Amino acid sequence: MNSFVPQEAALKTNSPQPVHLETAVEMILQYAQPVGTGKIGIRSALGRVLSEDIHAPVNLPPFNRSPLDGYAVRSEDIAGATTDSPVLLEINKEITTESNGNGKVELGKNQAAIVMTGTPLPPGADVVIKLEDVRKIEQKIEVVSPLPAYSNYCFAGEDIRQGERVLSKGTVIDPSSVGILAALGISVVPVYRRPKVAIISNGDELVEIDKQLKPGQIFDSNSYTIASYVRQVGARPIMAGTVGDNTELIARRISEMLKSADMIITTGGVSVGDFDLVRNALLSQGVKILFHRIAMRPGTPALGAVKNGKLIICLSGNQAAAFATFHLLAIPAIAGLMGITRPPLTITTAVLHDNYLKTSTQRNFLRGRTFFDEGVLKVKLAEKQNPGIIRSTLYCDALIDVPADSAPLQAGTRVKIVLIPSPWLQQN
Ligand code: AMP
Ligand code: MG
Repeated sequence: MNSFVPQEAALKTNSPQPVHLETAVEMILQYAQPVGTGKIGIRSALGRVLSEDIHAPVNLPPFNRSPLDGYAVRSEDIAGATTDSPVLLEINKEITTESNGNGKVELGKNQAAIVMTGTPLPPGADVVIKLEDVRKIEQKIEVVSPLPAYSNYCFAGEDIRQGERVLSKGTVIDPSSVGILAALGISVVPVYRRPKVAIISNGDELVEIDKQLKPGQIFDSNSYTIASYVRQVGARPIMAGTVGDNTELIARRISEMLKSADMIITTGGVSVGDFDLVRNALLSQGVKILFHRIAMRPGTPALGAVKNGKLIICLSGNQAAAFATFHLLAIPAIAGLMGITRPPLTITTAVLHDNYLKTSTQRNFLRGRTFFDEGVLKVKLAEKQNPGIIRSTLYCDALIDVPADSAPLQAGTRVKIVLIPSPWLQQN
């Protein structure tokens, strides 16, 4: 690993040695700590990350209860019941849902109590007979077959036991977690603060989308893509706008954002051209550069830096490059700031649907879409794979990790993919 850690000397040149992606991520993660904790009302908790384990304050269900409508009885009373010699049990009218709830009235010998689905069972009862399995004769019921003790019987705590850890620190509160919190009567939830991620787009050619384009100009789209992903994963984007190719202006915008944001993402201006000034702007602010350039395409120019413990991740301006490196570098960082403990990216394999006939000297992350074909996970390549092709990012839910020096890939080859979660998205 050491050979890939950039040397100070290399970082001072304009074209530093590229580091392995995994090394870059490792460096970033050292600074990706949760940004703080707080409490939130359950109605706003969806999508937030728990900052503490949740232990059940009560049993669920809270009492022994009936799973169906019928009669609670003692199994020993009906042990000898047959069609030829039915057992008659007297309905105890004093037993109600309320008396069962506080356990005051015990079911006596040869008695039965009317119960409904979910109502507490009276002390003494150890079995429930279905309503339709008995004949009611005035204040009595006739039972014609026995039932083993504790059949049709739900125990207190059989779902969730009091004191048990039911939700874990570092997990995202999903709709089911919200329901479990409600079932346990927990209305205020300990969560991590949502990190603020500032997004700055750099380039003289960039125009805000509400302005008129002049010849040679393009709209800033990276800010929108990245802000949308930041919001989708549950962090708070700050769209810090565009800034031209001017070291001082870039430096000023970065230092401004360092005051309010927990992390900064920039796109553009980070290659080695004369107009790539982000690196100099960072150095003028006294940041610590962790790495510059990654051994991958698209997005080789990516840079990672830290100032006052805050991460600054600078990505190539090419839209597909920004897309790929945002997911590979910035998503793990954001997950760390959010306090998420599970690995932020899912790495798996899929079968390539198309031929990819180029030889790649560099490690390449191709954009693709996954689908199932008769139980097999496959991945379809976006048609054009150039770093500046924004269309390749549309509904892209997989980055195909093609190792350096790979031979051309035939359809049917099993490939490694990094999944980009895209719930509910259209797949065509
Ligand atoms: P750069 O990384 O600055 O060399 O830019 C590489 C390419 O990406 C150029 O064609 C830029 O015009 C384009 N680009 C840079 N920033 C953005 C942006 N925010 N939105 C869309 N395209 C961009
Ligand atoms: Mg530029």
